[in-house]
Amino acid sequence: MDGTRDNDIQAVVDADRAHVWHHLTQHKPFEEAEPRIIIEGKGMRVWDQNGKEYIDAVSGAVWTVNVGYGRESIANAVQEQLMKMCYFAQAAGSIPGSKFAEKLISKMPGMSRVYYCNAGSEANEKVFKMVRQISHKKYGGKKNKILYRDRDYHGSSLATMSAGGQDERNLQYGPFAPGFVRVPHCMEYRKDELGLGHLEGEAFGIAAANLIEDVILREGPDTIGLLCLEPVTAGGGVITPPEGYWPRVQEICKKYDILLHIDEVVCGIGRTGTWFGYQQYGIQPDFVTMAKGVASGYAAIACMVATEEVFDCFKSDPSDKLDHFRDISTFGGCAGGPAAALENMRIIEDEGLLENCEKMGERFFANLEALKEKHAVIGDVRGKGLFLGAELVKDRDSKEPVDEAQVGAVVAACGAMGVIIGASNRSVPGRNNVLCFSPSLIVTAEDVDKITDTVDQALTQVFG
Ligand code: PLP
Repeated sequence: MDGTRDNDIQAVVDADRAHVWHHLTQHKPFEEAEPRIIIEGKGMRVWDQNGKEYIDAVSGAVWTVNVGYGRESIANAVQEQLMKMCYFAQAAGSIPGSKFAEKLISKMPGMSRVYYCNAGSEANEKVFKMVRQISHKKYGGKKNKILYRDRDYHGSSLATMSAGGQDERNLQYGPFAPGFVRVPHCMEYRKDELGLGHLEGEAFGIAAANLIEDVILREGPDTIGLLCLEPVTAGGGVITPPEGYWPRVQEICKKYDILLHIDEVVCGIGRTGTWFGYQQYGIQPDFVTMAKGVASGYAAIACMVATEEVFDCFKSDPSDKLDHFRDISTFGGCAGGPAAALENMRIIEDEGLLENCEKMGERFFANLEALKEKHAVIGDVRGKGLFLGAELVKDRDSKEPVDEAQVGAVVAACGAMGVIIGASNRSVPGRNNVLCFSPSLIVTAEDVDKITDTVDQALTQVFG
């Protein structure tokens, strides 16, 4: 970018202002100020319409561009595939679809079948539909309830919002679908809220998982088909599970014959330093969904992955017209998606990006801990790999969240200094107070330090 603004760029800005409806955006301010248009990206950096350069510490704002911008090899893989065969409904197979499914499953012991679609919400809905169908096929329609967790998010469609643990997102969009039941969160920093303030470490983790069992017993185990959880809660505030939590969750699911669905839309494909977040905690899910990092945003692709046991439920009686998963995702047949995903995975493997994620994640975490020493406003630092959060509070004893406007001011101050960071925004009323960091897995030590130095300055600007 040479920083000049030509007529073409002005035309783009004008057209955007006149016709584009931005996601999650209040448009009124655009009457005064320009919308930001990102027009170029390379590695960890992006440039806006004014030629301003930013380090992107959130991988495309929403944890997506895991291998960084400007990857020619992915663009080439997609182009070659599109020229050979761009699309055919996924009722038939495709070469990259077969190859990527095989490669993906090789990273997911115990899992077996890949169902292609094109967004995280959609992948999650596939699971919900399957569970409802299984309840009809195996349990006379009874075992159909879906448990989801406070502060977790599973998508923007009405069914996934029915499984939405972030109340602010749901305001004004009800009524929601029936049969979804909420279980408590597992956030150690706010364990008092759960009535578990007296417990530490593993004892807390197990007790937090037992809160799920309480809900199961209240609802009736024979009415519950699925437990759907994020491995590390993302937009709800980067909530890492406490020690002992996940093994107990798995035990509870087994005990009551409840299928376990891990929503890896954010954590999937390397974000936490392993291929999948759940692999950090030694659990074996029945369903895994993924989207953002699957092709790092170079193509729209999402996957619903199930065990062979689940798959078997849908192939038992060929003479019965209803006896298969009667579902289609039109764009699940776009062959460019798995072509991009295959190359994305090759890059992560060949460039050792899982290892880099772990190493740089430790550095990032240590830097944030150092900032916590310096800034009393940081109440808690959490994260796994390159998926990190810093919770801002008015007072460390009361843990009262800072005002959202102040969180916004920190984000804006970082932006003004050329670093794009995120925040848990518009998710949980009064609790949108967590700064979020998720740089691409290629991040260097120098960039990590630059990002946290900038946050340091921004915190000083806003809080003194
Ligand atoms: N699940 C989680 C954990 C997410 O964070 C998101 C999106 O942010 C989704 C599902 C929905 O994905 P999509 O926006 O691709 O529908």
